[in-house]
Amino acid sequence: MLASRPPLGQVPARSNTSGTALPPKLLVLNAGSSSLKFKIFGVDPLVAGMGGMFDRIGDKANCTLKASAPDPSGGKSRKWDLKLPAGDHTAALREILAFISDHVSGSFSREVVAVGHRIVHGLDISQPVLLDERALGRIREAAVFAPLHNPAGLQGIEAAQSVFQGVPQVAVFDTAFHATMPAYAYMYGIPYELYEKHQIRRYGFHGTSHKYLVEQAAAMLGKPVSETNVITCHLGNGSSVAAVVGGRCVDTSMGMTPLEGLLMGTRCGDVDPAVVLHIENQLGLSAQETDNLLNKKSGLLGVTGSSDLRAVIDAAQRGEGRAQLGLDMLVHRIKKYIGAYTAVLGGKVDAVVFSAGIGENSSLLRGLVLQDMQGLGMELDPEANQAAVGGRQGDIGAPSSRVRLLVIPTDEELSIAQQTLQLVQEAREGAGAAATDGGSGSAGVTARAA
Ligand code: ADP
Repeated sequence: MLASRPPLGQVPARSNTSGTALPPKLLVLNAGSSSLKFKIFGVDPLVAGMGGMFDRIGDKANCTLKASAPDPSGGKSRKWDLKLPAGDHTAALREILAFISDHVSGSFSREVVAVGHRIVHGLDISQPVLLDERALGRIREAAVFAPLHNPAGLQGIEAAQSVFQGVPQVAVFDTAFHATMPAYAYMYGIPYELYEKHQIRRYGFHGTSHKYLVEQAAAMLGKPVSETNVITCHLGNGSSVAAVVGGRCVDTSMGMTPLEGLLMGTRCGDVDPAVVLHIENQLGLSAQETDNLLNKKSGLLGVTGSSDLRAVIDAAQRGEGRAQLGLDMLVHRIKKYIGAYTAVLGGKVDAVVFSAGIGENSSLLRGLVLQDMQGLGMELDPEANQAAVGGRQGDIGAPSSRVRLLVIPTDEELSIAQQTLQLVQEAREGAGAAATDGGSGSAGVTARAA
């Protein structure tokens, strides 16, 4: 855990032309096919600064840069919404840096000591990695399972490498936290050669969020992560549940891709595979059309006509039957996973955690999920449940609840920043040890001087 490590400020600052040390900064990037999200962090202590998103990259007439920065004196955060042309991710990153240079620090580009990239699929890689040719190869290999996300992530990496030459770049994978799942949880019941030859298995996603939630839950419970068992529910547009024993994920609801598991905004979640074959055969849909139907037109959207839970709840309260059905389906599936994972944890559950857009904001949804769960040791405190909304952390369990019920706002960027700094520091320590003992350096990572 970070708390037990030396201060992250030990990652050395770079200096300006007159040799004065610059305040070290970290940049977190999350690249989509036509977007680039960013957040900057001060390193010592690790504090979030300006963040934002460059959107519609490639569509030069309509590119926008939206950014916000916290007010240092605790007032309202400052916001910007600009039109700036960018033909590709590198051009977008240069615009972002020019913007940061104007509004945060003129020497920002020289203050950056490491860049952390969110990468969706990392196959069975279990840790963040310093980016070298081998790591880039694995990200390319994993693109077969994340054809929209991983190539976009590579574009973000290329952009950062061209701008920040010699600065360590780290990939933090959505799949990594789930790499501890046992084989009996990650294997599908299909011919074994498909796993051996094509790596078809369950990987799980939202790992950065689940890891962060586990660490925060342990802190709230006042227990070491290694002694904490939790069920984490990341409920947003995309949703997943994870079962975690002593900080190690033992099962999660998403699979080879994010399509498996809960009913989501537009994804179907668990479905009999025969349904897919039936749709293709009977409706004459191509694989691509079926993929689109299951990922983009299903879930809450497919059942109710809206992917937004707020609209679904409003419609259900107006008495619309389909909206009520969609809500009931969503609640039922979350309940099923919590019940199943309680069994997987042998009934020894310290806490159930609710997070992301739905989990952090919808007291109604949480109330429905936790209704009649006393048999599993889960009892809600209705008032605490009402109060824990809008980004507020809270314990919404009744005092008599054996299992604590926690609402924890997730912060994936902070987690990426923590993991990036930790790895850069370990690599430096490894390189230092290798230099003093003439050894081979840290395990499989290549450190470049900051
Ligand atoms: P993403 O997965 O895109 O990051 P979010 O975590 O932002 O998504 O979650 C989006 C979901 O959160 C939407 O379904 C939205 O309706 C839901 N949501 C946000 N606020 C509320 C609320 N007050 N009540 C119910 N649902 C909410």
